[in-house]
Amino acid sequence: MSPPFGLAPAPPAPRAVGLEAIYGWLMSGRQGYANDDALARMLVSQLLGEGSLPVGLGLSPDAYAELKARHFPGSVLPPIRRPPPVWDARLLEEKDELIALLDEHRAGQDRSESWLSVIVATGCLANDHLWQDLGLWSRRDLSELMARNFPALAARNDRDMKWKKFLYKQLCEREGVYLCRAPSCAVCCDYAKCFGSED
Ligand code: SF4
Repeated sequence: MSPPFGLAPAPPAPRAVGLEAIYGWLMSGRQGYANDDALARMLVSQLLGEGSLPVGLGLSPDAYAELKARHFPGSVLPPIRRPPPVWDARLLEEKDELIALLDEHRAGQDRSESWLSVIVATGCLANDHLWQDLGLWSRRDLSELMARNFPALAARNDRDMKWKKFLYKQLCEREGVYLCRAPSCAVCCDYAKCFGSED
């Protein structure tokens, strides 16, 4: 499959190429790692202006370059231009705690898990559902990513809580802070905020 851009001198606009074509081209150079697919979806979404992650997916420039070279060698993505996001300062303080939480629960199977700790924590700073902020294509993509990379943590979400709510709740519980206003979820007026549809 010839690349729709990147290796050509004048790549066409991503939207004109289409999401599936870009995704197919990127995946044609994949290296067979478990997170290739999820990372390709995030990168393609960014090219199309979707998701809320900053350029580099929240990683350092070196880590971002390493990620692309490892998972999609030879696929030279066009520069992604988007203004840097403005994060809520309080949430920014919790980013390192989220990274630590995710790192503690890494499956230990693949190098990319540590990058995904940072990427997922960065997505938690934005305002939509986590799978949307990450530029994934469905909630299922995110559930699979969590189960694959952070299995013990994902298994704790056995009632299918919204992922962002679930992760922040883990932080609260680690700190011994319980913000829930009801004795149980079943009688809580915030139930829909925690467990409602993420589609
Ligand atoms: S539904 Fe209510 S009680 Fe359950 S986690 Fe959410 S806020 Fe807490």
